[in-house]
Amino acid sequence: MNLNPNSVPRLAIVIPCYNETEVFPFCLREMGEYLNDMIRRNLVRAESYILFVDDGSRDDTWQQISAAAKEHSFVRGLKLSCNKGHQAALLAGLANATQADAIVSIDADLQDDINAIGKMVQSYMAGHEVVYGVRASRQTDTAFKRTTAELFYRMMTVMGVKQVFNHADFRLLSQRACAALLEYHERNIYIRGLVPLVGFPAEEVYYDRKERMAGVSKYPLRKMLALAMEGITSMTVSPLRLITFVGAAIGAISVLLFLGIMAYWVLKGCVSGWAFVIVALFAATGIQMLSLGIVGEYVGKIYLETKERPRYHIEEKEGFPAGNPSVPA
Ligand code: UDP
Ligand code: MG
Repeated sequence: MNLNPNSVPRLAIVIPCYNETEVFPFCLREMGEYLNDMIRRNLVRAESYILFVDDGSRDDTWQQISAAAKEHSFVRGLKLSCNKGHQAALLAGLANATQADAIVSIDADLQDDINAIGKMVQSYMAGHEVVYGVRASRQTDTAFKRTTAELFYRMMTVMGVKQVFNHADFRLLSQRACAALLEYHERNIYIRGLVPLVGFPAEEVYYDRKERMAGVSKYPLRKMLALAMEGITSMTVSPLRLITFVGAAIGAISVLLFLGIMAYWVLKGCVSGWAFVIVALFAATGIQMLSLGIVGEYVGKIYLETKERPRYHIEEKEGFPAGNPSVPA
């Protein structure tokens, strides 16, 4: 651990928002009070601020953010041109959280306990440049979400991906760690897989996850599956390797079957069993299609990466100091 404690940081709190009209007023009040309390306690510097990123909302989330940024000096707003997804919105926020020594990212619905931010800052001042918010309990998540999340984390571990269990995108990054993260230019973004690759001294802070305070989850099953797929394909090529092993195993089984059939033929003088042949045919075709699909997934990702398209476009900014240019995607 770094034994030279960092000085009181100027903190930026990045909050991606997508159709959060019901949640925003509550989030602004709670986060605003918490931030100002931290400033009063001299835990963070007075120039600290909250940066709301509107991820192309179709409701009046941006109007609310923009009005708040005009009213409060501690609020900044960034509007993306259309919905690019949580990970891209978060990245846009991190890239534009300028003039900050440390940056905390948190969801707008405040399911993550904001009191953990104080602990994160203390951990930062003790020398940690990455502080992971880890859910001590997931009682508020459905049994389905808990089980699938557990399964996903285990699968990633088996595939050799380093990931902090029960950590989503609630974390503190030092300016240096944030700059390092932004050096990863991929389009297939899975931030919680990239952060451990960045390195730097890290620590975990535990908290209890609460219920979403209003509105509905912006992560339906479809988006959750897409994120899991991004996570796997952006972090590891293990599934491709698995195909090789499955292919080799099937090859070995077919050799054994052939030898068995030959033995049967020698002993009995005839071979029958079309049903068995059909089952084997279906199994082999299924595995081939699955393998093709997995290879296709990676080929598709290569196609998207080679185009190097921008990950987001900024449409508007509010509350930023004059002359503060947008950071390109
Ligand atoms: N979000 C976003 N873009 C999207 C989907 C979600 O910016 O396309 C934001 C959302 O407003 C929230 C955070 O990502 O601040 C996490 O979403 P949510 O709380 O709905 O996810 P859950 O907690 O249900 O997994
Ligand atoms: Mg949530």
